[in-house]
Amino acid sequence: MKYLTEYRDSHLVKAVMAEVSRKITHPWVIMEICGGQTHSIMKSGLDQLLPTGLELVHGPGCPVCVTSLEMIDKALAIASRQDVIFTSYGDMLRVPGSQGDLFSVRAAGGDVRVVYSSLDAIKIAQDNPSKQVVFFAIGFETTAPANAMSVIQAQTLGLDNFSLLVSHVRVPPAMHAILGSPNNRVQAFLAAGHVCTVMGYWEYGPIADKYRVPIVVTGFEPLDIAQGILSAIQQLEDGSHIVENAYSRVVSYEGNLPAQKMIGQVFEECDQKWRGIGMIPSSGWRLKPDFAGFDAAERFEVQRISPAESAICIAGQILQGLKKPVECPAFANPCTPEHPLGATMVSSEGACAAYYRYGRST
Ligand code: SF4
Repeated sequence: MKYLTEYRDSHLVKAVMAEVSRKITHPWVIMEICGGQTHSIMKSGLDQLLPTGLELVHGPGCPVCVTSLEMIDKALAIASRQDVIFTSYGDMLRVPGSQGDLFSVRAAGGDVRVVYSSLDAIKIAQDNPSKQVVFFAIGFETTAPANAMSVIQAQTLGLDNFSLLVSHVRVPPAMHAILGSPNNRVQAFLAAGHVCTVMGYWEYGPIADKYRVPIVVTGFEPLDIAQGILSAIQQLEDGSHIVENAYSRVVSYEGNLPAQKMIGQVFEECDQKWRGIGMIPSSGWRLKPDFAGFDAAERFEVQRISPAESAICIAGQILQGLKKPVECPAFANPCTPEHPLGATMVSSEGACAAYYRYGRST
């Protein structure tokens, strides 16, 4: 299959990684931002091909993992209401809140449904006019355009029983937060190709300049990631720090302008809490005042949220590249995908789930 088979060709991947081995003369730490890239690395065994001295650390680009505990608890409270049909991506149903998850709400009688997009939730709202339909609008720049479109569509249709529980996050402020931390270990980034498909990569130049780090826009197949690593290593060894696009078959500098326009029409920037990391300035999107009527957090007053995170979960440090999943004392026992203590063990993009699924114990 074009653009798939050849990007999984193990001979080509090994050849690129051999070139990485020839280039490298110093120890370096590179962060792949996206959890989808983390899973691809583990699944393909790319981590086993890294030369001595090169460490990959896993970034916060897993939307399920970084949705704040307060927001999960809010979702549980809203989903428990008799008058609500709560709709969500499937991954979110097992994410632990302070007390239970959306599966346990469903088991207790709540109407919690899995959908593929907010536009599915619009249809459910049309079909159930006597119910309030809430969509859990989580995610990065990738999911925001469709969620913005659903609000416009609900407004056009005059739907007054549809709303979003919004918890959107943005990548560039998280990169600032990681690089600006006194504990930072990251010396180069593989930027998330799908986020850049929407947003382009014009936001990354100032970050590369300010912190003097190479940033390589990178795809998701093993050869994409190997090429991203090679570009980053070349820059690190040369002492340069520019933004390169190693995913040019998909990503352009300016990105998808209609999608960006749609986001700007409906959302505005806000400070956002990231699970395990804390508040990052300007790292989220919320509904603009003109669309406040579609804000589930406003529509349903949720009282007495006092989140309580697992005391042993170190997901926050993993998402900042400070630790690896196997350094968590709970990894694999008692924390497993069936009985997760933290969101990074739940998500199909979570680093802990990737290590568990692909049998990495070191
Ligand atoms: S293994 Fe479980 S408890 Fe440990 S960091 Fe990962 S999600 Fe948290």
